[in-house]
Amino acid sequence: MKPQLLESSYSELVETVASLGQPRYRADQILKWVWGGAASSIDDMTDLPAGFRQKLAASCRLFTLEPIEERVSRDGQTRKVLFQLEDGKSVESAHMTYEATESSRERRTVCVSTQVGCSIRCSFCATGQQGFERNLRTGEILEQVLYFVRLAQAGGRKAGGGRSTGEPRGARPTPSETVSSPPAARRPLTNVVFMGMGEPLANYEAVKGAIARLNSSRGLGLGARLITVSTVGLVPQIQRLAKEDIHVELAVSLHAASDRVRNLLVPVNKRYPLAKLIPACREYLEATGRRPTFEYALFNGINDSLDQAGKLAELLTGFECHVNLIPGNPTPSKEFRPSVARRVAAFQRELTEAGISNTLRQSRGADIEAGCGQLRSRRLQRQD
Ligand code: SF4
Repeated sequence: MKPQLLESSYSELVETVASLGQPRYRADQILKWVWGGAASSIDDMTDLPAGFRQKLAASCRLFTLEPIEERVSRDGQTRKVLFQLEDGKSVESAHMTYEATESSRERRTVCVSTQVGCSIRCSFCATGQQGFERNLRTGEILEQVLYFVRLAQAGGRKAGGGRSTGEPRGARPTPSETVSSPPAARRPLTNVVFMGMGEPLANYEAVKGAIARLNSSRGLGLGARLITVSTVGLVPQIQRLAKEDIHVELAVSLHAASDRVRNLLVPVNKRYPLAKLIPACREYLEATGRRPTFEYALFNGINDSLDQAGKLAELLTGFECHVNLIPGNPTPSKEFRPSVARRVAAFQRELTEAGISNTLRQSRGADIEAGCGQLRSRRLQRQD
């Protein structure tokens, strides 16, 4: 299989370019096309000589993911895409727009998957019920981001690409007619979150590679504080992440404040109980200066009691962190229903009164099955 261009380091790309008889600056031109979102195939890179484009397309691949289903929420703010991978498996990604408020700018966030399925098997999660199939490669993670970058460049009409091999598509105009540079872009995305299907820290190397390219000035150029890695709480990997050069934001899916309740929701808690997890998060703060966020999806009658709220406040008192309360997305399971508004308000009040920084996050895209893995689950059911 030909190497994927997105997975090449800059020096590897320069080498490839040189091996095809071209000067170094061609590598920069290629990266500008790819990360600017203006090219969905190598043949679109119209300021490269046509002969070089052909040779490049013969020596590497560009995009390999095929969008096979897309849903946009009624309010137009959430777009969910199911992609087919080269081996026929599928993963989901989502793009969310958050309007500017008095205290924050508008955000355009892409949520990417890192695995096909997931081995963690959280009991409320559609992906967890699918089981684990395989890790995504760095290029497959980046492609999800780039799909939305291209979509933004195309004004939301069509991202182009899909299962592009980079092969030239038929006759092209002469170079003099086609020479152009990728259009200068307003930043199409403001945040990337690793919160889609899979446990990112269980696919550590591929995620690390993706972070490096998202952060690089030769990649998307996204600041480290605009990149968030979400984990269910793999303690050794949190400790490893704390030692990396790029200090990304850390979000920990806590979902319960006692081991008894957390064991039911997040089975990996049996291996990494709260007594190990919380100190690892404190270490992360000390090593990186990044304040961890604890995600807490509220399920009616399961983890939304005042007792759990009190325990959560106790657990986090004196810890510079933030709690994101999320009314759980509705799932097909009868067991896990989103908390009712009254219980959510009481839970939040308990935290606030205890001085714990918290936000009640709006559940997004419930009308398009925006919960992790729901779109794919529905498609797999249809295929059965
Ligand atoms: S919530 Fe995340 S870690 Fe848990 S099963 Fe779902 S994808 Fe895996």
